[in-house]
Amino acid sequence: MSIDHPATAPATPTAIVHPAASEQAAPQQDFIRQIVRDDLASGKHHAIHTRFPPEPNGYLHIGHAKAICLNFGIAGEFRGWCNLRLDDTNPGKEDPEFVEGIKDDVRWLGFEWHALRHASDYFEVFYRSALKLIEDGVAYVDDLNAEEMREYRGTLTAAGRNSPHRERSVAENLDLFRRMRAGEFADGSKTLRAKIDMSAGNINMRDPAIYRIRKIAHQNTGDAWPIYPMYDYAHCLSDALEGITHSLCTLEFEDHRPLYDWFVDKVDLPNHPQLWQPLVDAGLSTVPAKPRQIEFSRLNLSYCITSKRKLAQLVNENFVDGWDDPRMNTLRGLRRRGFTPAGLRLLIERVGVSKQNSVIDYAVLEGCIREDLDTTAARRMAVLDPLKLVLTNLPEGHGETLTFANHPKNESFGTREVPFARELWIEREDFAEVPPKGFHRLKPEGEVRLRGVGIIKCEQVIKDADGKVSELHCALDPETRHGMPGADRKVKGTIHWVSAKHAVAAEVRIYERLFSVAAPDSEEDGKSWLDHVNPQAKQVVRGWLEPAAANVDPEQRFQFERLGYFVADRVDHRAAAPVFNRTVTLRDTWAAQAGA
Ligand code: ATP
Ligand code: MG
Repeated sequence: MSIDHPATAPATPTAIVHPAASEQAAPQQDFIRQIVRDDLASGKHHAIHTRFPPEPNGYLHIGHAKAICLNFGIAGEFRGWCNLRLDDTNPGKEDPEFVEGIKDDVRWLGFEWHALRHASDYFEVFYRSALKLIEDGVAYVDDLNAEEMREYRGTLTAAGRNSPHRERSVAENLDLFRRMRAGEFADGSKTLRAKIDMSAGNINMRDPAIYRIRKIAHQNTGDAWPIYPMYDYAHCLSDALEGITHSLCTLEFEDHRPLYDWFVDKVDLPNHPQLWQPLVDAGLSTVPAKPRQIEFSRLNLSYCITSKRKLAQLVNENFVDGWDDPRMNTLRGLRRRGFTPAGLRLLIERVGVSKQNSVIDYAVLEGCIREDLDTTAARRMAVLDPLKLVLTNLPEGHGETLTFANHPKNESFGTREVPFARELWIEREDFAEVPPKGFHRLKPEGEVRLRGVGIIKCEQVIKDADGKVSELHCALDPETRHGMPGADRKVKGTIHWVSAKHAVAAEVRIYERLFSVAAPDSEEDGKSWLDHVNPQAKQVVRGWLEPAAANVDPEQRFQFERLGYFVADRVDHRAAAPVFNRTVTLRDTWAAQAGA
């Protein structure tokens, strides 16, 4: 299959497979995997090698999950390798903190790299390769400044013009470029450019820059370099140096592919070992190859921002509490929110790979997380808006320990002990003095099943001085308890509870989507994306947990029955002072609200 006929993969996949089972299930089908399959079958490659190349200028976000799952996933499926390459050619914006964060996030998603590399490992190779291009007569030093260069470049409809410096001799170019490297010239005063074609239809081919002067320290190489390579030059050579066979990137690089191929061909690393001798000397094994760039569509999700610059702005301007704030769609934010690696991988699998740009509904992501958590999260009981309920026909001081299954569909989760007593907390909204139509929970003189206990009847409603309901007095029907003849008696509603004297107080953080509109950066109706930040996206309440929900490790995830999925906060949770984050509700309440 040729990449000129891409994207037979549908935007919504036909086969829905849980990743846990996907090893045995039918292999994923998409145009990139087909190319890889063909290249292996034809013997073009005996093994494949991919890479994930983030720039360490921020933390990874949900969009990167697609590139990670694709690159590492394909390498794994076809028994190849995937490198993690920090694409650190842009000094000033990059930070070692982000390097560590990226490594962490890739591992959290469930992947391990073959080799960890930095584009800056190759600076000497890039420099030698540039000297080669000059010697071969296909690169020159230009004195035009940025503005003049733009003007000479032409437009989509008008050809560009040759720079007056384009015909410098090889000797003069070598001398000037060596002096650029030695730091003799000021920032922006000279540029090394590829000599291609100023009238090319593809503007990227109009003598693009290869090196610019920037006297700024680099997080990995310090002050060693006053010149830095441009992305288009550094990226393809990095791929070639690492022996990358399939260089997968997003669609915006499609127009850059001719330039990618031009640099790879002109530098011709495989046939010029002296160029990569510095890597061999440094002990970085390398077998350069000719890589092939293949583009796929980005992952776009409604209610999400997938620009590192904007995510940084949310952090720097205190709209959120940090890169790992559970409202952020960074991988560390989603992690802290309780999202699971398996749930995110399921999303990526479901979305598929194609060349069609589309926006995926955030509800699809939530659905994947729910699907994973439904099978992996143990059940617990918690009450977030407590109303006291007294079982008046039990003696004062009554105490029992009940045994509850931890998972309704999976016995291997085992059981736990739940203390039961005369005084309980129930959710305030599970009682209605004047019940709306179809309300099957508790009402005056009404009956309801107390989860795992039996049927109770509400006999008396106690109110405080303001007329607010403060306590319910109920009677437990002993005939409906476990093992009794009336245990099967039917009532319409079942509510959850915790024992008031055993319950553990917890800080519970209720999160909603960070943006109140589906396309926050559409810039429609003159609003900026920041105008759509929902100030209510985080609410903190005091809730009550059954003891077995409190004494848990950070990052343990549970379904609090009838309330949603929750995770013990990765940073703040302590068994003695529990802190839980709501990951997602049990159902898609958002669709209902938005439709209302
Ligand atoms: P930003 O523009 O926000 O800085 P970026 O795309 O430049 O993001 P990189 O660190 O360069 O971020 O990205 C690393 C890799 O992840 C690239 O190969 C890029 O194509 C890919 N990637 C980034 N965003 C997405 C996305 N939304 N969907 C799929 N792949 C993505
Ligand atoms: Mg980038």
